[in-house]
Amino acid sequence: MIPDCPLQRRIDDRLLLRSQQQLTRDVTTFKREAGTLTTADGHYLNFAGNDYLGLSQAPSLVRAWQEGLDMYGAGSTASPLVCGHGYPHQVLASSLCDWLGFERALLFNSGFAANQALILALLEKGDLLLQDKLNHASLMEAGMVSAADMRRFRHNDVGHLATLLTPSRRGAALVVTEGVFSMDGDLAPLAEIAAECDKHRAWLVVDDAHGCGVLGAEGKGSCDAAGVKPDILIVTFGKAFGMMGAAVMCSDAVYRYLTQFARHYVYSTAMPPAQAHALTHAVSVIRSEHWRREALVHLSGVFHQTLADRREVRATTSPIKPVIIGDVGKMQAVAEKLRAAGFWVGAIRPPTVPPNTARLRITLSTNHTEEDVRQLALYLRQLLSEVE
Ligand SMILES: *Cc1c(COP(=O)(O)O)cnc(C)c1O
Repeated sequence: MIPDCPLQRRIDDRLLLRSQQQLTRDVTTFKREAGTLTTADGHYLNFAGNDYLGLSQAPSLVRAWQEGLDMYGAGSTASPLVCGHGYPHQVLASSLCDWLGFERALLFNSGFAANQALILALLEKGDLLLQDKLNHASLMEAGMVSAADMRRFRHNDVGHLATLLTPSRRGAALVVTEGVFSMDGDLAPLAEIAAECDKHRAWLVVDDAHGCGVLGAEGKGSCDAAGVKPDILIVTFGKAFGMMGAAVMCSDAVYRYLTQFARHYVYSTAMPPAQAHALTHAVSVIRSEHWRREALVHLSGVFHQTLADRREVRATTSPIKPVIIGDVGKMQAVAEKLRAAGFWVGAIRPPTVPPNTARLRITLSTNHTEEDVRQLALYLRQLLSEVE
């Protein structure tokens, strides 16, 4: 290696700083089964994943993927426009449109790609992009790369949003919010935000990665629950769907526009047809198996009843339960004790969340039993009183 190479020096410095701040991120290797995790060190109940409806290990979904492999082979061989878009992709797109009430669906390999594709293709210099401060990194990064003028409004603060939607503006305006916020589990005030967008002729984009499948009639998500139809809806398949990928739900005109100009769509290999086939099956499971959403509501009730007296625990109606401890060291001590007792929870530190809001991110899933949730909540209550 060249001594004193600037890039190497930067990498070493940044890594050292992260480690001095005790904020180094590490990858653990997991073996996952329905509701549990096994690492080299132990076996845990999984309270950290996003498999809210328990579909990642659902036998019928696994079978659907296998059936898709038998019918269509392993890969799609090309980007959608070249020859990668097949019959199973078309069926998936139609089933999403039918379910969610949009004219068209554009499929992507990840929510991250969908968000980048959308924002970078839609906006130009002179446009205004308004994002909730707590929006996902994929949206924020797209906004920073975009030539549009990006402003962030205070979390769920419609008044602040209104002041930023200035009438003097000439270019287009796009307002982007999550439906359910991933690190807080709270819901955006979608009806108020939509009304504000209408007033200022701005378009509304809702990224419903954590709401789709979980909230609303037939699991249609946060927008359905709020009685709102956004101009564009992002749904992702890595959370409640138990799989991977995403779709941009939109009008026919936006679909045709993105097909021309969204580089992540034009220049990226289409998802495997077998995956599209399995995702179509996931849509029908999500629409019809209401018991999964009812079970989540029940488990949520058990969790909050047991922890009703702990102010660190935010009451949410989603399966995401943040426990905001603040101090990184205290939060990690609680997370480690929970792990030692067999509960794997998310331990989230800055910069993923704002400074001094280190938190446990506990997620509920239909894989959990009532007893699993009660045991976790009881032990957590004891630990929280110990670190006060
Ligand atoms: C997870 C997530 C994404 C990214 O989706 P992937 O399919 O995992 O790339 C985008 N937006 C939000 C709000 C998310 O929570």
